Amino acid sequence: MTERRQHFADRTDLRAVLLDVGGVLLVPNPALVGQLASAHGGTDDVAALIRAHFAAIAAADNGTAMDWLRYEHELLVGAGVPAERIDIAAAAVTLAYTERNIWDYPLPGAPEGLARLAATGLHLAIVSNSDGTVEQTLRDTAICQVGDGPGVPIEVLLDSHAVGVAKPDPAIFAIALKALDVPADAALYVGDTRTFDVAGARAAGLHPVHLDPYADCPEPADHDHVTGVGELADRLL
Ligand SMILES: [Mg+2]
Repeated sequence: MTERRQHFADRTDLRAVLLDVGGVLLVPNPALVGQLASAHGGTDDVAALIRAHFAAIAAADNGTAMDWLRYEHELLVGAGVPAERIDIAAAAVTLAYTERNIWDYPLPGAPEGLARLAATGLHLAIVSNSDGTVEQTLRDTAICQVGDGPGVPIEVLLDSHAVGVAKPDPAIFAIALKALDVPADAALYVGDTRTFDVAGARAAGLHPVHLDPYADCPEPADHDHVTGVGELADRLL
């Protein structure tokens, strides 16, 4: 494997880390996805489904747009659903997505990684494209909350639904930076897509870090990569 670009590790001027949630701290619930996949001949193995999730994100992300139908298709391919059952299984996944937000499963290692990241002393903020539920889900899963609570204390939490602007629009990053009182060039943004996160953070003047646990990114030299929040913390500590 080519060595991944990690220029952020050499920076001594960083003051804040802003984080995405979906694909960074939470992933689509593998118990639910596994139920749907196994009903159509696929696997319900949690590790295999998380692997399939990241492969599907990479396949659906062309750097300027996300194709969510392609995501569902590739997720089910990765889950081992036979070709002739993919369409019917994808309809079930689409329905599950419309019934509730299924991004509620802590990515293994992420909560511990976030705690280590907090130990760096850097300002921490969440910037998520969500539906108004991300704050409650992060609290319910004891991952983080603004101020004291069961998870890691963070300073700012933005849900695109609540603030009315979404990534990759630089405006959502600017709102978070203003609340932290940190300039863009002293901040990292960690996200799992090129389209929303790398491009958005870059346009807003932040240093993008692509969370890409299986090295699926087709542009390893274009921007920095980490396998998880834990690796990010270890390189910043
Ligand atoms: Mg994400």
